[in-house]
Amino acid sequence: MATQTLPETMEVSESKPATKYVYFFGGGKADGNGKMKDELGGKGAGLAEMTNAGLPVPPGFTIQTDACREYMRTGGVSHEVDQQMEDALARLEKLQGQKLGKGDNPLLVSVRSGAKFSMPGMMDTILNLGLNDQSVEALARLSNNPRFANDSYRRLIQMFGNVVLDIEKSAFDEVFDAKKKQKKARLDTDLDAKALKEVIEEYKKVVKKHTRRDFPQDPHEQLIMARDAVFRSWNNDRAKHYRRINNISDDLGTAVNVQAMVFGNLGETSGTGVGFTRNPATGAKEFYGEFLMNAQGEDVVAGIRTPVHILELQKIMPDVYNQLREITTRLEKHYRDMQDFEFTIQDRKLYMLQTRNGKRTGRAAVRIAIQMVEEGLITKEEAIFRVEPNQLYDFLVPRLDEKKSKIEVLATGLPASPGAAVGQIVFTADEAVAKANGGKNPVILVRGETTPEDIHGMEVAKGILTSRGGMTSHAAVVTRGMGKCCVAGAGDIVVDEKKREMRVKGQTFKEGDWISLDGTTGRVIKGKLGTLDASPDDPELQKLMGWSEPFRTMKVRANADIPRDAIQARTFGAEGIGLCRTEHMFFGEKKIPHMRAMILADNEKDRRAALKKLLPMQRDDFAGVFKAMDGLPVTIRTLDPPLHEFLPRREELTVDLALLPSYDSKQKKGLVAKYKDYGVKAVGDLKRVLSGLLARVEQLHEFNPMLGLRGCRLGITYPEITEMQARAIFEAAVDCTKKGIKVHPEVMIPLVATLKEMTNQAAIVRRVAEEVLKEKGTRIDYLVGTMIELPRAALVADEIAKEAEFFSFGTNDLTQTTFGFSRDDVAKILTTYLADGILKQDPFAVLDREGVGQLVKMATERGRKTRGKLKVGICGEHGGEPSSVEFCYQTGLDYVSCSPFRVLTARLAAAQAAASEKLKVEGGRTK
Ligand code: PEP
Ligand code: MG
Repeated sequence: MATQTLPETMEVSESKPATKYVYFFGGGKADGNGKMKDELGGKGAGLAEMTNAGLPVPPGFTIQTDACREYMRTGGVSHEVDQQMEDALARLEKLQGQKLGKGDNPLLVSVRSGAKFSMPGMMDTILNLGLNDQSVEALARLSNNPRFANDSYRRLIQMFGNVVLDIEKSAFDEVFDAKKKQKKARLDTDLDAKALKEVIEEYKKVVKKHTRRDFPQDPHEQLIMARDAVFRSWNNDRAKHYRRINNISDDLGTAVNVQAMVFGNLGETSGTGVGFTRNPATGAKEFYGEFLMNAQGEDVVAGIRTPVHILELQKIMPDVYNQLREITTRLEKHYRDMQDFEFTIQDRKLYMLQTRNGKRTGRAAVRIAIQMVEEGLITKEEAIFRVEPNQLYDFLVPRLDEKKSKIEVLATGLPASPGAAVGQIVFTADEAVAKANGGKNPVILVRGETTPEDIHGMEVAKGILTSRGGMTSHAAVVTRGMGKCCVAGAGDIVVDEKKREMRVKGQTFKEGDWISLDGTTGRVIKGKLGTLDASPDDPELQKLMGWSEPFRTMKVRANADIPRDAIQARTFGAEGIGLCRTEHMFFGEKKIPHMRAMILADNEKDRRAALKKLLPMQRDDFAGVFKAMDGLPVTIRTLDPPLHEFLPRREELTVDLALLPSYDSKQKKGLVAKYKDYGVKAVGDLKRVLSGLLARVEQLHEFNPMLGLRGCRLGITYPEITEMQARAIFEAAVDCTKKGIKVHPEVMIPLVATLKEMTNQAAIVRRVAEEVLKEKGTRIDYLVGTMIELPRAALVADEIAKEAEFFSFGTNDLTQTTFGFSRDDVAKILTTYLADGILKQDPFAVLDREGVGQLVKMATERGRKTRGKLKVGICGEHGGEPSSVEFCYQTGLDYVSCSPFRVLTARLAAAQAAASEKLKVEGGRTK
């Protein structure tokens, strides 16, 4: 027998395995599975998983995210993608025994976006695709419902026109409204098939007018155009904005799901709904959701009609209800997490359209995690990761103070997102931004319903009120994600956006009127109520923290300047004060005149006189903070005021002085009040004091105060300031010790760039400390350290550590000086930078690991080379931001310090960082 031998060298063709762009699902089997979120997106992975589990899912296929990335790179897709899509469509047609948009029983499909991380309502969807002038007739015959068929077709043209062809929605609305008027129709459903046919003809004219081409009749062309439009919607403004606030990378891209249509609007035996396996607001274990009979999905989610509670379905269609219950319970067990699902009933038959892990409030997240541990569904270690650290804020949100005031409830809507909000009404998102004035004024955004276009207004508003929509409406879902109070679907309220007013109970409320919202009960209350701080001692929260805390190795301190904040921080679990900004202690009414006098003094004698007045005040403040932190370390920073924060504005002063001669006596009295802190007692003083003041302000004027006479430069220029502060600190420390309070002062020098600066200031602090301790005949252990907030300090950290006994990273200034961005003016630049993707995140909010982070790492290493056990912390804003906290843990910092309200968040973030390393699980912090 002839044998074949292999040649010694063989030519192997190097052809790359073809990328699989399209994944089919249907007929009980899917090409993909639930783990493939990167490729299939959350929705596509869920559809594949449900299909594989034998659940009733309309068949279809998912075009994976790689194709979207290709589209973003090149503006199109390869032949390979088109080919695989055509093959999948042919397979779908075969399975269904239908042809896309053809024949007596045409196949119609939906085309939907679906990214790895859910971005509700941010990208585009097209329904009823495949309808054209022929297939609409076939659908009419088949459904025996010409009205339904024509309504579906006109919806397609409208959606396609808007999403794919970029035609303003209003162009279609005008046609539709005119037809309703002509036919004297009150509701959309009052238009019959004939009227809808007329609308379709008009819509086609709109398309022709705006695009100079006809609405595409070829279903394949429709499909390709719709797919590309969904890819493009990844980069629409609202999607970009959403990704930014949710820390989702711009590079991921979306998948596109093409799926056979099922109709919830075929009549009274059809319907559609959405739901959750547990209550997403409270976490209670109850079947939760809403539905509408004879409706399409959009009608429920967009809040156009107010839907019915899902339990009602049990009465209308008990079999379908039971099947839905059974399926969703199975899904929850399968995914081991609360599910958010969408379903459609077509002629009494149930179809599942989507399932995903549901978004929830912080309280619900904690409760569900605990319940699931108790039910044996997840472990305690997993439970720690089921709560986003930022969500713990929910436990700290205020409640309305109802004892003090008489309450007039105007309406009760749905408790869509918990907490309380008190503010002035605004009716548009733009107004919300304008009136909120960077968070200075509390506003409440009142809308009929919100849409993704409102996202920027929702972000700045204290709370959201809508008159339509349910618990799964856009407003509800988005605010829950933001941890912001929302009352949705308050149906008794008429919101007249045109007239800018809201009417309820016979009363009219205008822009600027005050209302109070209770997002936990859904009440809308007239007027400006007070609010009560939430208590962080919730037993469920404590339980979860009890599971996470043993993992935490990094300490969490608070930034607090006054005893009240220190006390607050301690109740949240702060383990010390990481930053006490002494200049903030001077903002009080009694202190500020002396602080100003000190700054304005042009000689040492006057400065010392002002400092003498300030000394006892500072001492009392420090004593208060030491007392609140009994037994814990307190880091007090010497004075670091950009001087302009304490002085009148040069331009204002010049104007006041110039106009003084023309002022009447009332205006002059106004000026006396305005400048009383600067020594103006009567009208007669005005000219002299204002001229002197202007001269001194001119002298002190700096072009860039942030880089000016601040930080240690001030204490070096005027050593008496550091002396006074050191004395106040140590006198307070001694007084407290005498009362049995355990004090651990850590004196911190700001804005140090060189060893000599550090040596200079440390010498003053140590000298005064020893003087005080000697005078009082006692000993107290203390540390003198520095902030690392300039790149130079990071570079010479080994030198600085010779003198500094601890480091604390001032990442606000370090970000400012590393990027060369002014902290005060960066907003203008950031808007463009973030929109264009030049920066992924605001580096002042999330620590820039690649740049600023490297300086932090380097300084820590260099500092510890000199001083092995150097204590290192962070006290910039980043100290309370979860991803930055994770970085600090990985860099080996001893503690993070953040504002009191972020202490809980930082504690959980620090625990998660340590636990994910120990348990080798993905913390999921960085998306
Ligand atoms: C910092 O710069 O990060 C810091 C904490 O100091 P301040 O914000 O007071 O400048
Ligand atoms: Mg600073």
